[in-house]
Amino acid sequence: MGLPKILFIFLLLWLLIQSEATNADSDSLIDIGESQIHLSYQGKFSHKQKLMLNGWIEEMAQAVATIYGEFPLDKAKVKLVRSYSWREPVPWGEVVRWNSSQIVLHVNPSFSYQRIRADWTAVHELSHLLLPYVGSKNSWFSEGLASYYQNIARGKVGLLSERETFQKLFHGFRRGERNAQRRPIKLSEASSRRGNNMRVYWSGAAYFLNVDLKLRQESNGQQSLASVLKQYKKCCLPNHSVTAVWKVIDRLDDLSGSRIFSREYEKIINSKRFPDYEKSFEQLGIKTGWGGISFERDEKKAKFRRQFFEI
Ligand SMILES: [Zn+2]
Repeated sequence: MGLPKILFIFLLLWLLIQSEATNADSDSLIDIGESQIHLSYQGKFSHKQKLMLNGWIEEMAQAVATIYGEFPLDKAKVKLVRSYSWREPVPWGEVVRWNSSQIVLHVNPSFSYQRIRADWTAVHELSHLLLPYVGSKNSWFSEGLASYYQNIARGKVGLLSERETFQKLFHGFRRGERNAQRRPIKLSEASSRRGNNMRVYWSGAAYFLNVDLKLRQESNGQQSLASVLKQYKKCCLPNHSVTAVWKVIDRLDDLSGSRIFSREYEKIINSKRFPDYEKSFEQLGIKTGWGGISFERDEKKAKFRRQFFEI
């Protein structure tokens, strides 16, 4: 080993120690109502960038808190990892569940704040906290919930318009539908096989849209997916362990005093086709076509549609 190499290693070590040192005192706590988010950083971020990203996480967590009026966990952890990707501001995100639930987001702070807050990843990952993880074989359920709320929650706080919200859901459903047509396998098998990502994510989102709609209709507006999830928080969170999907669905049925969660589950789980979302769209006054979606001129349906965004 020549001298330059040794010097290089020392330099690396020094940089590592430096970054650890600056990280330790840059952790911050963000209050979201009664909940607290512990935010930490990994990699090189300037003071100014950290200020911006603190505000970003607060804004995204507030969006998730509007789903049912409070943040799903009393204590949560978020770690931001420096990304240098110029493809998108937040190229990667995940939830690491081990004794606690930590959201990890890779973010390139050189993008403008406008670009960063327009990205869906943070709201998606934070929405995962609404329910426990049900395992990779049933990832359609977890990913579906997060994909549904990444749009609805952003719509609720005005990050997306009502039209953009349903447009994004529709585009997702179309991608999922095409994926299912190309690879017609049962949804129960899709999650654990490669090449079905769009099918998995958006089948789950269609499931939760259908459940949300049915809950509202059958309870005459007394219930919604959000109101049942809020009850679930009270009885069953935090839960950082893998929990069987049927257990979660059973509990959600019990809490809602209905069989809507299991009924909708049985409709899609052994089907090779993408779940039917057209009926729900029809009842919400959403028409679809080549150009995307448009709204029917029907005041009753428009009122029903707006209920999905009420805080
Ligand atoms: Zn996800």
